[in-house]
This record gives sequence, structure tokens and C-alpha cells, in this order.
Amino acid sequence: MNSTCLLNADLHCHSIVSDGTLSPEDLAARASANGVELWALTDHDEIGGIARARAAAHAAGMAFLSGVEVSVTFAGETVHIVGLGFDENDPGLRRGLESTRGGREGRAREMAAELARVGIHGAFEGALKYVGNPDLISRTHFARYIVEVGACSDTAEVFRKYLADGKPGFVPHRWATLGDAVRWIREAGGVAVIAHPGRYHRFDATKEYALFSEFREHGGQGVEVVTGSHTAAEYVKYADMAIEFGLAASRGSDFHSPAESRTDLGRLPMLPGKLTPVWSLLQERVALPPQAA
Ligand code: AMP
Ligand code: MN
Ligand code: MN
Ligand code: MN
Repeated sequence: MNSTCLLNADLHCHSIVSDGTLSPEDLAARASANGVELWALTDHDEIGGIARARAAAHAAGMAFLSGVEVSVTFAGETVHIVGLGFDENDPGLRRGLESTRGGREGRAREMAAELARVGIHGAFEGALKYVGNPDLISRTHFARYIVEVGACSDTAEVFRKYLADGKPGFVPHRWATLGDAVRWIREAGGVAVIAHPGRYHRFDATKEYALFSEFREHGGQGVEVVTGSHTAAEYVKYADMAIEFGLAASRGSDFHSPAESRTDLGRLPMLPGKLTPVWSLLQERVALPPQAA
């Protein structure tokens, strides 16, 4: 497989197994139609879709990496760590993800109670209608219900008005620690990657520096540079930070749904050529389609 930056790799997206709307099979077909050559499914805190995604990727002729996006609490904020190329049967990783998923139902019930106070009723049951995996009820499912009842016109507006930190439906939650998430991924043979660093708007430069340096100390090896949620200026900023911290670079759309996502699978600029692509660290872990193997 091509290990340069000039590969249409999409190493971040979500299926119905977490908060996406498409099945792993439909995502694979869409990625392939968009020219993706190397693909990973990275559901939140959940690896239940990987076997189906790998089979569908191979049927479509794409190379595949296992993936997950782990929810982490760092310096009081939620940070996401993507894991790539791990053994999905690793017991430590499986237990860690299970414990990270554990608190979601209680949090969702509290969110529904808070939303009822501001006039949005039936939100727990309403969100559940959009859930593909009951262990993975998320803010995204609430957002879809709040659009359905007409309180907002799209999910971005729901997050602004109801679900972002400090808004009425936000319930603080303690996820995995940074050290645990990186360790679960590494001990399962994978590479840990800081997801969309440009989205942690509450971090000042000092906290961002602490995130990158502690991530490295724990054994983290990559950072998303080209992602659907970065601006062109952020591609440049995080390319420089990848070099400064000696991290490999990743690329992924963070696609969730044809109706909600601005960036489609594989439709992103290539990684800047001066970077080390994360897939060059994962040559042995990439599963090639049968005819290419
Ligand atoms: P949760 O894991 O339940 O806290 O939900 C987090 C998910 O909410 C993210 O993975 C995104 O899919 C979605 N999300 C967070 N912020 C926004 C936003 N401003 N607009 C749309 N979706 C968002
Ligand atoms: Mn999501
Ligand atoms: Mn994320
Ligand atoms: Mn994501």
C-alpha cells in the first residue's frame, strides 16, 4: 500500500452502531464510490461494527484499518482519541470501552430531565428512536429528536441552544482518562491519535500544549491534521504541531450522516507532504482486500 501522504485515506467516521445514520455496509459503499483507498470505521467507544465494516470494505476493494473514537476527560473537558489498527479482540481494550460506555444511559436520563424543564418533553424516549445501539445513546440522538419536534431547524442549532457545555440540556460527564485510552489502544497493538484538536475551543494555548505533551508521554503517536471540522488555517497549525511534537498525521472526514455532515467520506484535501502519515506506522496492521493481499 502507498505509504505517502498522497493516499485517499478516510480514518474517521461513524455508523448506526454509534451516532451515525448509515450501516457499516452503506458507509463502505459510499466511501468506495468517493474514491477512498484506505478506510477505518471509528464509532464512539464501540467496536461492534468493525467486522461488518471490514467485510464490506474488502467487497468494495478498499484496504481497511480497525478504528474507534474514545471519549476522554482531560483538564475538565471532553477530548476524543482515535485508535487505529488495534486487535479488536483484545480483552483490555474491550473492557475499557465497555466501562466508558457504561454511564451513557444515566446521563441521558438526566439530560431528558433537564430538557423537560425548558419545555422539551419525552426526550429520552424520543432520542431512543434514533439509537441503533442502546449502549451508545448520545447527544446527537437527542439533537435529532429536538429537530423532529420543531424546537430547532437543524442539529447544529440544537447544540448551540441546548446541548453545548453551559446550555440547559448539557450534563457534565466523566469519561476515560487520557492515559487509560492511549494505553488500551497501544496494548491492543494500535496507534492512538488526537481527534480534531481544533475543536477544543475551551483550551487555551497552555492546556493545548499540556494535551499534546501528556498524550506523547502516554505513548500517543498521531494527530488529525486534515479533518472535516478543521479550517484551512487549522490544517497549517496542526501540521506544524505534528512536526513540533514528533507525531504522525491522520486524515478523516468525521462523517456521520448525508443530511448532517458538511464533509463527505474521502472528500478532503490530501495531507501536507512534509508530514509522516499515520498509515506509514500501520503497514503491518492494514487489512488488504483479498485480490490485493
Ligand atoms: P456525546 O458523546 O453524547 O457527548 O456526543 C458527542 C457528539 O455530538 C459528537 O461526536 C458529535 O457527533 C456531536 N456534536 C458535538 N458538538 C456538535 C455540534 N456543535 N454540532 C453538531 N454535532 C455536534
Ligand atoms: Mn459523533
Ligand atoms: Mn469527535
Ligand atoms: Mn467522530
